[in-house]
Amino acid sequence: MTTVDRASVVCPKCGTLFVATKIMSCGYASKTKDFMPNYWGYNPLPHFVHTCPKCMFSSWPNNFKDATSEAIYEEPSIPGWKKYVLLAENLLAEEPEKGSVDPSVIAVVYHKAAWTARSADADRENEKECLKKALKFLTLTLKGDLEKDEKAIFTYLCGEINRLLGSFDEAIHFFSMVQNLVDKKGEQSWLLKWTEEQRAFAEKKDNKVKDVSKS
Ligand SMILES: [Zn+2]
Repeated sequence: MTTVDRASVVCPKCGTLFVATKIMSCGYASKTKDFMPNYWGYNPLPHFVHTCPKCMFSSWPNNFKDATSEAIYEEPSIPGWKKYVLLAENLLAEEPEKGSVDPSVIAVVYHKAAWTARSADADRENEKECLKKALKFLTLTLKGDLEKDEKAIFTYLCGEINRLLGSFDEAIHFFSMVQNLVDKKGEQSWLLKWTEEQRAFAEKKDNKVKDVSKS
């Protein structure tokens, strides 16, 4: 089960003290086929990013130090997915050379934004917008130098995100590439099974979120 605490923290950008919700523990029994944990109880996803109520700087909780005095401000009341989008924008803006940011990091943040829109905010529209952005940065990731096993995962994910977006031909294109990247008897053989299952859904033009089957 998820347990939370409330603590006063300091914004590293503008020094504002505000009260943030901290996740003390959480767990899950299953995942979706795009790797989203189905958490037990209260959904912790909106709280894995803190957003400053004054300057809207957004980052991982460990970048906000604990305050020594009580804060009077609260985190801004914005949806959880938006906090991840602000984080992605902060990361992109902080890069001194445009385009030098590791695209896989941005892809992960937008993907988590999509999970949050889906599971905490029930906002299908913004889930799709965030999936599109994750896909853009995943495609950039695939153009870089990757280990074969990483390439297999990112290629699968491009297939699955395309499927969730209803781009079934694109999904099938990426799923067919996974087969050449995975050793059938190796540690990633599970990915071949997932790829086959998700490809079958894409062929049936099914764009629904799927949980990992319990077989
Ligand atoms: Zn701030």
